[in-house]
Amino acid sequence: MLAENYRKVAATVKPGVRLVAVSKYKTPEEILEVYHAGQRIFGENKAQEMKAKQAALPQDIEWHFIGHLQSNKIKYIAPYVALIHSIDSFALLKEVNKEAAKNNRVIPCLLQFHIAQEETKFGLNREEADAFLASEEFKTLKNVRIDGVMGMATFTDDTHRIREEFASLHREFDYLKSRYFAQQEHFKEISMGMSDDYPIAMEQGSTLVRVGSAIFGARDYSRKLY
Ligand SMILES: *Cc1c(COP(=O)(O)O)cnc(C)c1O
Repeated sequence: MLAENYRKVAATVKPGVRLVAVSKYKTPEEILEVYHAGQRIFGENKAQEMKAKQAALPQDIEWHFIGHLQSNKIKYIAPYVALIHSIDSFALLKEVNKEAAKNNRVIPCLLQFHIAQEETKFGLNREEADAFLASEEFKTLKNVRIDGVMGMATFTDDTHRIREEFASLHREFDYLKSRYFAQQEHFKEISMGMSDDYPIAMEQGSTLVRVGSAIFGARDYSRKLY
């Protein structure tokens, strides 16, 4: 069942776009079904849950962290995380840099922008991003690398609004690219699009889509896995 869902979704992902299978609240057994169908990138939004799954599952999985990250939990993911999509403050970026240094590695990160109309979604605005990207202190961070941006559209049926919000994230990407990262080839990622809106996101230039329920089915939030 899951393998079939996965194949259907994977077949709709455009060339050049990477699929992140969002496996939060799903068991290692469920993840393995999708793994055996060929998927290698999985996304989680809780640090301890990701750590437990990383230990239990095949070591060639690329783990992407996609949720709000608390500073005191970075240690659970720093040794192996392949990409943190959700850097929403300079303070967090500096803490990630510290934990990455302890692990002798450079952690690739995306800057999460607030593009939705909802109040509740985390993220930076351009002014906040400018303030730290232009700082001397930012240049001293040797154990993080900024690979691009991430954002979540408003939860709505209004496809015009969703399209406009994804377009606005693309504009933030273009702005940052030209202003700070023009010489840096690795600054190339735009993480946008979930189960209900990833086709619109791809049309607007997404390079990473984060798809959960379309692959794994609805989540049971009462389920306590760890
Ligand atoms: C849960 C989650 C997703 C996946 O959502 P679906 O609607 O199930 O595809 C994508 N991105 C983030 C940040 C999430 O927390």
